[in-house]
Amino acid sequence: MAKADIQTGRLSPEEISRNFSDMHPPLSRPEALIEADRCYFCYDAPCTTACPTGIDIPAFIQKIRSDNIKGSAHTILKENIMGGMCARVCPTEVLCEEACVRNVHEDRPVNIGLLQRYSTDPVFEQGLRLFERAAATGRKIAVVGGGPAGLSCAHRLAVLGHDAVIFNRDGKLGGLNEYGIAAYKTVNDFAQQEVSWILDIGGIEVRQNAVLGVDLTLEKLREEFDAVFLAFGLGGVNTLGLANEDAEGVLNAVDYIAELRQSETKEDLPVGRHVVVIGGGMTAIDIAVQSKRLGSEIVEMVYRRGPEQMGASDYEQEFAQTSGVSIRHWAKPVKLLVSDRVTGVEFERTELDDNGKLRSTGDKWSLNADIVFKAVGQAIAGDIFGDATELFEQKGGKLLVNDERKTSLPDVWAGGDCIYGHDDLTVTAVQDGKVAANSIDRYLCPQE
Ligand SMILES: Cc1cc2nc3c(=O)[nH]c(=O)nc-3n(C[C@H](O)[C@H](O)[C@H](O)COP(=O)(O)OP(=O)(O)OC[C@H]3O[C@@H](n4cnc5c(N)ncnc54)[C@H](O)[C@@H]3O)c2cc1C
Ligand code: SF4
Repeated sequence: MAKADIQTGRLSPEEISRNFSDMHPPLSRPEALIEADRCYFCYDAPCTTACPTGIDIPAFIQKIRSDNIKGSAHTILKENIMGGMCARVCPTEVLCEEACVRNVHEDRPVNIGLLQRYSTDPVFEQGLRLFERAAATGRKIAVVGGGPAGLSCAHRLAVLGHDAVIFNRDGKLGGLNEYGIAAYKTVNDFAQQEVSWILDIGGIEVRQNAVLGVDLTLEKLREEFDAVFLAFGLGGVNTLGLANEDAEGVLNAVDYIAELRQSETKEDLPVGRHVVVIGGGMTAIDIAVQSKRLGSEIVEMVYRRGPEQMGASDYEQEFAQTSGVSIRHWAKPVKLLVSDRVTGVEFERTELDDNGKLRSTGDKWSLNADIVFKAVGQAIAGDIFGDATELFEQKGGKLLVNDERKTSLPDVWAGGDCIYGHDDLTVTAVQDGKVAANSIDRYLCPQE
């Protein structure tokens, strides 16, 4: 049996720094002006309709043309307070840029993402203040979770004159912006720059290492606060349902990515020579590409259905493939091959039956692996609500909310990854937080 080939520092510090540098470097002023000139300033702009936060895209691009960068940033951030992060991480190819009419004639949309970054970067770099708080209402809202949904909600509540207290599990705020997003999408500690700028509005208290279900109960929060917003994301990970999942070398992709994001040099991370990733979503793509960039020689992703059914977009699949990752479809893992640690995975081919249901063919094959990453989805962690669990309407293990992001409890709202139907994107989590804050405001301060 060959020994597992796992090493730290497979690549030189220079190679690591190159591999994890900014994926889409910012535009210079001339580049931004040329790109802004490509916009047709469409009436009823399809790009705005396609943006989950409804940013008035032609309006912000127009302001770039007249060199009104602060005004442009305001147009973006008033709809999406994380417009800086979203400019870096949004899958624009399936949102605003997919809808851009420039695709029709030129097969190339206006580069909305990079223009958005051009407008918003100075705000964070220079700490520009764009929003003021309304007169204090005396109302206090508990926000559980300091990721995109929680921060967006707290900021909008603060702008509306309410006080918000964020209770957060992790040591740093930002949620998956800080612990999940691929390192080359958000460099130079941008997540924390954005968090401090958001908190600068005032009226937002942060209580770190305060975990709902451990240090806090929903009952207590409902007693002490005028309303509660739940945005604790998905702290649990799905399993493969196979024996030996706890074997050495079988890792959860999200845990490894969190370590990678917190590692300054990335020289301390164990990197396998041959890596197998199981899953077909954004997390699977991210762990596969980052493994390659850490120096893994062979990285193979295996997904049980075809390319069209993958959670990762065509662009992301192509990005992985051009980064040296090979993607195999129509196979599911049936056995983790283990000696004193994992040595490989046995797969069984799959296909669709006449009713379109997935079935196994009985045809088996296997891959060697020094490390196997599980990236088959996440779920709400453990017992967060205790006795209050049955008070919530839930579906698919997530919280059910209405259009205003209100749960089945009159004073409790929820948003982000923990709600049913969420598409697991930063931008949608931000929108949830904003919509919920506006709804909480109407509930606490009804207009005559
Ligand atoms: C690996 C990975 C890569 C991704 N890449 C992208 C991408 O490129 N682009 C994109 O748009 N989206 C991406 N996403 C999805 C995106 O990050 C999430 O949809 C988004 O962060 C959800 O925001 P949230 O606020 O709901 O939850 P989270 O970001 O998960 O934040 C939850 C917060 O709640 C806190 N918390 C958790 N449990 C408790 C508790 N019990 N009590 C108190 N606080 C608690 C945590 O500390 C955390 O701060 C990625 C996700 C993953 C996993
Ligand atoms: S669809 Fe494209 S061209 Fe039209 S307003 Fe939006 S960015 Fe400009």
